[in-house]
Amino acid sequence: MASRSLGVLWGFPIVFLFHLKVIICLCALWWKKCAGTRCRLLFGMDEPLTILHVDMDAFYASVEVRDAPELAGLPVAVGGRSDSRGVIAAASYEARAFGVRSAMPTSIAERLCPDLVLLAPSFEKYTRVSRTIMEIFRRYTPIVEPLSLDEAFLDVSGCERLHGDAIEIGRAIRRDILKETSLIASIGVAPTKFLAKLASDLDKPDGFRVIQRDEIRTVLDPLAVDKIFGVGRSTAKRLGSLGVHTIGQLASLEREDVVERFGSLGAWIHDLAHGIDPRRVTPRRPEKSHGMERTYAEDIEDRELLKRHLYEYCEEVSFALRERGLQGKTISVKARFSNFKTITRSKTMDRHTNLGARIYATARELFERVPPGALRLLGVQITTLEDVRTAHQGSLFGEPDLPTSEPSAAKPFEPGEPLRASKGTKEQRLMRAMKGADKLRKKYGKRILAPGALVDREKG
Ligand SMILES: [Mg+2]
Repeated sequence: MASRSLGVLWGFPIVFLFHLKVIICLCALWWKKCAGTRCRLLFGMDEPLTILHVDMDAFYASVEVRDAPELAGLPVAVGGRSDSRGVIAAASYEARAFGVRSAMPTSIAERLCPDLVLLAPSFEKYTRVSRTIMEIFRRYTPIVEPLSLDEAFLDVSGCERLHGDAIEIGRAIRRDILKETSLIASIGVAPTKFLAKLASDLDKPDGFRVIQRDEIRTVLDPLAVDKIFGVGRSTAKRLGSLGVHTIGQLASLEREDVVERFGSLGAWIHDLAHGIDPRRVTPRRPEKSHGMERTYAEDIEDRELLKRHLYEYCEEVSFALRERGLQGKTISVKARFSNFKTITRSKTMDRHTNLGARIYATARELFERVPPGALRLLGVQITTLEDVRTAHQGSLFGEPDLPTSEPSAAKPFEPGEPLRASKGTKEQRLMRAMKGADKLRKKYGKRILAPGALVDREKG
């Protein structure tokens, strides 16, 4: 009897301690996962200020002006020529003063700014600078979500001990970028992605803006409603017809009313108007496709010439894929005829690749299915992308008609030509050739290497 009482006496504390341990573990998990909610619920504190949005100012144009200082202070734009139906890819702030904007047809830009200095884009150069900028970001945090070559979200939570708080990290990044690239970045620091992106845009160029949780209403209320991510021209127009022109006016509406009128988009934009954005910074946003297309100054009917263009695009796409550590499986060829009729032919290969020769082999096959006629536009796109590092690389054995892009001084390459005999497997030879070619391209620019057929065309 006595021993039973002793058992009960010891049993209670053990069960109690076990449950206490479980509760502590759950609380620790919650503490780590829900930093923002926890702060607000427990202490009425603000969400931690941990998100940075970094955006380079007029990136392509700034890189060009940096490399040609005599252009400083002039209205500079990077883009295609107006006589080639080109568009503006980036404009310096001096050009923007004339109304020149990116994605604007060059012909309009030149009309707005007759002294516009128009430069052809040099994407290898921009990619090189971009790599340096992304490396700087990763010195401070592993959580970097690139949005484009010159723009990224960073989450610096947990990096405070090493590098200081988010504001200090933002300043250090800006300093490093200026020192190592001689370029200027605008940075926004805020508790959410929406607010951080908004902040980086508010004081552009050369901006550094912090939005604390308690400043949300002061900052957001006067802004136009189309500053909200997701409010396009038509939504802004519909909101305008309801008398809603500013974010403050949208925030003052009942959430249910906005949801009733705009559905799930209504819930989203109403939350953003209140500074609520649950999106987390996800390192490296997966790309869904990569492609290249060109609209020609004059329509082209010559099939051989079109094939050579197609080959060039396949090489460009494959280079870009390798740069990003990606490979794809589905190839599409798009062709637009002189009467604007557009057709697309697609094929999924039996395995992923980022080799220009393999991409071209399928693209050429698809191009043969395009009816004859003068083309205004031709392009190639690769989808079903995957990360090379996590993927199994297939063997290239047994593909007798695989053309190579390996450059040769002795014998000009013709698209469609079979591989010549050399040491190693076909895959090893191709990968070796690609690595060498990529090194040269990165160092000297993409035009340093071109298959014989393309070189001949350019000489002619
Ligand atoms: Mg930018």
